[in-house]
Amino acid sequence: MSASIPLPDLLDLEPDAALETLRAWMAARGEPAYRATQVFGRLWQRPVRAFDDITELPKALREALAAAFRISSLELATRQQSIDGTEKFLFRLHDGQFIETVAIPDGDRLTFCISSQAGCALQCAFCATGAMGFQRNLAPSEIAGQVRELRMLTPPISPTNIVFMGMGEPLMNWKAVGPALTLLNDPRALGIGARHITISTVGILPGIHALGARPEQFRLAISIHAPSDALRRTLMPVNTKYPLADVIAAAAEFDRRVTFEYVMLGGVNDQPEHAAQLAQLARACRAFVNLIPLHPGGSMGFSPSPAPVIAAFAKALRARGVETAVRRSRGIDLAAACGQLRTERLGRRLPVAAENHGEVHVA
Ligand code: SAH
Repeated sequence: MSASIPLPDLLDLEPDAALETLRAWMAARGEPAYRATQVFGRLWQRPVRAFDDITELPKALREALAAAFRISSLELATRQQSIDGTEKFLFRLHDGQFIETVAIPDGDRLTFCISSQAGCALQCAFCATGAMGFQRNLAPSEIAGQVRELRMLTPPISPTNIVFMGMGEPLMNWKAVGPALTLLNDPRALGIGARHITISTVGILPGIHALGARPEQFRLAISIHAPSDALRRTLMPVNTKYPLADVIAAAAEFDRRVTFEYVMLGGVNDQPEHAAQLAQLARACRAFVNLIPLHPGGSMGFSPSPAPVIAAFAKALRARGVETAVRRSRGIDLAAACGQLRTERLGRRLPVAAENHGEVHVA
């Protein structure tokens, strides 16, 4: 094999494929089959950074594995902790790209907000990641790998919940997000319950259908942010391709309860008529609504709705029979909104105060 062709990364394979690959490789070398299970157990459950760390294997076998396969890691570039316990991690990928992961403690829960792409192509008007443009899709090993890396810290950090609310649009990277969901959920890999894993999307219809076709009970959150096509188009260019009526229809067909995310933009989408329109959409697909205070990080000329306006908006929704929560701000002392840490790294201007948007109250 040419030295320029990278070795296959075992962390990109779903458990069945990884075990099959390892069994075939062990068999070809005349090694007992249990060696495959031994190696597999060190990928996700008791993770190691390198084959050489699998000390229960003979040295020669570790060396042979390292010559045949890769176990990729993400380099932790920066770690920041908020006074409220929220932690933000910046990872450097093998090609120099940066992605973020946020860990948000809340009572006995610990939610990881993970990234699915480096950058994002969608250009939502208020989002910092959108402003930096799309770099590339992440591989399954880089998506599920964010959780793996934090479980390899001393002391390890292990999540109870996952939200795909970091950088990127997960349903525009279904090719990798599909296998990553398996790795996060499969008890032989990271073992996080499907109901504790939420995919957040702007409403990419083919992706919603693909997610709905999965047998596991993964949760779906849809970034609505405006209750009419005319307004939504101005905030989210993707609305031209996937208009609200189609997104709501897909949400209604989804066999599990959907959450709407609605970022409160002062004077833009927070008026009583918007609440009335939003209530209709939510009722049409029995959605739960999460109202999100705007994080100043990527706000690009928008201002957060004042707290009393948010409260009145929530009240108006509830009065129309829509279950509504107002998201609590976390990590307010961290420059931790969507894409900010990476922005800081690239030497752009930093906002004065910002919160992260990886929140625990999703459905
Ligand atoms: N692309 C997906 C997931 C990543 S963004 C999506 O759009 O759903 C996760 C959430 O953070 C989305 O609801 C997004 O609109 C929101 N968000 C982005 N920038 C924000 C900001 N400055 N303040 C509050 N929420 C923001």
